[in-house]
Amino acid sequence: MKEEFKAFVIDRDESTKEQSQGWKTVSTDDLMDGDVTVRVRHTTMNYKDALAITGKSPVVRRFPMVPGIDLAGEVVASESDRFQPGQNIILNGWGVGETHWGGYAEYARLKSDWLLHQPEGLSGADCMAVGTAGYTAALCVLRLQDLGVKPEDGKVLVTGASGGVGSFAISFLAQLGYTVAASTGRMEEEPYLKTLGASEIVDRGTLSGKGRPLDKETFAAAVDSVGSQTLANVLSKIAYGGTVAACGLAQGVDLPSTVMPFILRGVTLAGVDSVMAPLETREPAWSMISKTLDRDALAQITQSAALEDIEDLASQLLEGKIRGRLLIDVD
Ligand code: NDP
Repeated sequence: MKEEFKAFVIDRDESTKEQSQGWKTVSTDDLMDGDVTVRVRHTTMNYKDALAITGKSPVVRRFPMVPGIDLAGEVVASESDRFQPGQNIILNGWGVGETHWGGYAEYARLKSDWLLHQPEGLSGADCMAVGTAGYTAALCVLRLQDLGVKPEDGKVLVTGASGGVGSFAISFLAQLGYTVAASTGRMEEEPYLKTLGASEIVDRGTLSGKGRPLDKETFAAAVDSVGSQTLANVLSKIAYGGTVAACGLAQGVDLPSTVMPFILRGVTLAGVDSVMAPLETREPAWSMISKTLDRDALAQITQSAALEDIEDLASQLLEGKIRGRLLIDVD
């Protein structure tokens, strides 16, 4: 089978190191190696996709590259016993959109080891509205649960609350019975965050500047997608024996903290990675999503976006102007 199709391609001039990008017509023969070929139906835009498209961070490590770290679609050809033509699959991460052509195209060829069957009870569009951001939020929540954080322990803080990870973390935690405090720089989003399940709003300005190594024990646990000074301040406010699931760097990659929360309060800092997480970790996360997903919250969190607008959307997302998640219908 040979099909010509449109793909958004990022390229780089190796002498000047300047990045260029745009829509190109390519063919299924141009696709990279893999044992499953997929007709992409839906994709999304994550923070990492926005970094790749704008070139603000060296996310793309092989050129030319089709970005898009998440995709959902239908198998059209397969050499794998796990997948048959006509089945619906989802993919999150594994370096797709970074070193392997990704979701901003009508077709993708992928390794079967990276794919999950579309989870029961969710459509491809649902899965892409959730995307890596929501799946990472689920990994964070499961990590807190694995480390023994219970609803009766006290409030759980979610930073970067209006973003993709933050919005889903609030919704999942609230659905599971936790009391959620949401930290945001967009105080006007209070009604949105409360609809998702937050019972208290924290101005992110109170967390983003230099704070004390140990502060008042305020939260039993936290999901942090911000990093840097915010994460340092969050650690200092975690109650004895509490846990922070850290997955992001929206404020920065540094962590200007001390060992005090760890050695005096037994706080656990649990790192969460979605990209290379094995299938045994992904499957429970998607199963939790399909059981816990609140349809009203999903509708609040998700905005539909057009593939043609991805360059504008990438800039807006990095400027913190996108609330929640973007769902892109590739058809
Ligand atoms: P979004 O851009 O949707 O959300 C990030 C949110 O962080 C913003 O909405 C904003 O929330 C807050 N924020 C932005 N800039 C700052 C700042 N300078 N200081 C404090 N808060 C800030 O991104 P995602 O939710 O998709 O991703 C969040 C982070 O998680 C990113 O760093 C991303 O790379 C990382 N990530 C990591 C994954 C992993 O596998 N470890 C997977 C997915 C994401 P508000 O306006 O409410 O304050």
